[in-house]
Amino acid sequence: MLWSDHVAGLEPYTPGEQAHIPDLLKLNTNENPYGPSPRAIEAMQAAVGDDMRLYPDPHGQELRQTIARHHRITPDQVFLGNGSDEILAHVFNALFLRGGRPLWLPDVTYSFYRTWCRLYDVPHRLIALADDFTLRVSDYTGEVDQEPSGIIFANPNAPTGCTLALDEIAAIAEARPDSAVVVDEAYVDFGAESAVPLIDRFENLVVIQTFSKSRSLAGLRVGYAMARPEIIQGLLRVKDSFNSYPLDRVALAGAQAAIEDEAWFDHTRQAVMDSRSRLSAGLQELGFDVLPSQTNFVFARHRREEAAIIARALRDRGILVRHFQAPRIGQYLRITVGTDEQCTRLCDTLRAILEA
Ligand SMILES: *Cc1c(COP(=O)(O)O)cnc(C)c1O
Repeated sequence: MLWSDHVAGLEPYTPGEQAHIPDLLKLNTNENPYGPSPRAIEAMQAAVGDDMRLYPDPHGQELRQTIARHHRITPDQVFLGNGSDEILAHVFNALFLRGGRPLWLPDVTYSFYRTWCRLYDVPHRLIALADDFTLRVSDYTGEVDQEPSGIIFANPNAPTGCTLALDEIAAIAEARPDSAVVVDEAYVDFGAESAVPLIDRFENLVVIQTFSKSRSLAGLRVGYAMARPEIIQGLLRVKDSFNSYPLDRVALAGAQAAIEDEAWFDHTRQAVMDSRSRLSAGLQELGFDVLPSQTNFVFARHRREEAAIIARALRDRGILVRHFQAPRIGQYLRITVGTDEQCTRLCDTLRAILEA
């Protein structure tokens, strides 16, 4: 075996299936059912040319400026990455390895966080969410013997869709001034409130967003973190020790145009939110308990039938949804909100399965 010592012990993340099935309806990886902004597509096409022989801007200055303007912060508070997954990996490396102090994270959240704990050997403590999958702020604010190196959670959370209010995030950041508090806002644009306005108040707060979900550019791989410049500089040191050019020319151009197209952004995310209400109601009618969601997916549990069996039956009929074989959530399905037409196909198919 020629692997480095730690490789056999890694627990790689399993991404949702990208299957090749005719007439497939993919509701398993929270992709946006609407395409990206037509202006973004045009900008990407225009970026492909003779300039491709040149390296891209290693700092993505123009995109950082545009993102900063959009969020009313400054460019030195913005860090870019090849998808937010890459940013998160750099965050684990840059912020969570401090003298053996543990990282705190919820027991039910984006499962990739535990994969990076393994990769970087980050000591961590899982903190159980309440029975209704809400995060109890008091679990994160009390006195402890050893301060955590950091705290990380998704808000809205994945795969539950539950959301913390801004004052609750502020309470956590305030209680743990010597810990990096990292809020993964992959889904925030579907109805939740962003913690970005808090970064000027809390030196320890890091907010991460992505172009993959609400901007419909999962294929482009662009994400960004926002925090005080001192934290951004730490991330830049790690990034420039790893890959100076994480964003290529096409990605920089496409992301730039996407964030400038506010109208497309607002129109498509509103359409997703409207379909989400209809989908939740449809699922409830079919005997599902549906958690309240401020994301582009719903987390639902059927009152009678096994989640794994339903997921398999859907797959046999060309519809993919996500089922996690994990403690506490094994009876739930995570279903991406599609167009109304797609949601109707899902509900009709579910009805046929449940009646059979
Ligand atoms: C989708 C998702 C990501 C990854 O986003 P990319 O920018 O596509 O890498 C990160 N965090 C959560 C919670 C997600 O659901």
